[in-house]
Amino acid sequence: MPELPEVETVRKGLSDFLPLKINKVERTPELASILKTEEFSLKGLTISSLERKGKVLIFHLGDGKTVVSRFGMAGSWEVSEEKNKKKHNHLQLYCTSSQGKVFLSYVDARRFGKMHIGYQEVTKRELAKVGVDVTTEEFNEKILRDILKKYPDRQIKPLLLEQEKLAGIGNYLACEILAHCNVRPTRRCKTITKEETKKMVWATKKVVSESIEKNGLTFTKTTGYRDVLGNAGEFFDGLVVFRQKLCKLCGDVPVKKIVLATRGTFYCPKCQK
Ligand SMILES: [Zn+2]
Repeated sequence: MPELPEVETVRKGLSDFLPLKINKVERTPELASILKTEEFSLKGLTISSLERKGKVLIFHLGDGKTVVSRFGMAGSWEVSEEKNKKKHNHLQLYCTSSQGKVFLSYVDARRFGKMHIGYQEVTKRELAKVGVDVTTEEFNEKILRDILKKYPDRQIKPLLLEQEKLAGIGNYLACEILAHCNVRPTRRCKTITKEETKKMVWATKKVVSESIEKNGLTFTKTTGYRDVLGNAGEFFDGLVVFRQKLCKLCGDVPVKKIVLATRGTFYCPKCQK
């Protein structure tokens, strides 16, 4: 599932093609289950800039017009020189970019993605559902402490995944962040110390920036997340507990896998208390 580093990689990849003028639009009937708002047609409009908040990608089209895109489980934006013939390509845009004629496509095999094509009010409404982006300066020890205080009896890991509180963290990032700050995923928020909170902020910035550096995470060579040109992310070797046999922090303890709030969760019983 695309998390902050993967969405950021897509944003950077698309930026190389801006401005992107949309000349023609083709869509599948299935797009209807993804496209939640449609206040105008994209035809004739130009994507002039891109923004990201947490895992949400925002396309700016001028005059307050935007596309707000959530990738869901498997959604992504792809750029190609030829028409994208993938089965799950639900939105094909014929464009003229800074690099010539290209096709921009929204591909989503699982169709859990959500898209809003709307004016400022829609953008505002959608972004209001998203909490503090963990790559911004706004995300600091105080913000995290306030959140932990507000939910004393909740377990830390499921809480980290809630986008309206902190934006950008998904399943693999949460596991990795907790490993690097030595906190067990099952810990109740009220038991987390001031020192651990401070370390959690540091670990979040570290893991997120390292994953962005590697263009995100792709699990297997054949499936999963790809950047706009179809390249896999290379953060896999940077993982210390997520889908690992042995913890890479201590090097000798088998990683434990548990299910927490329906999500596969990995931790080291020695490094994480
Ligand atoms: Zn360990």
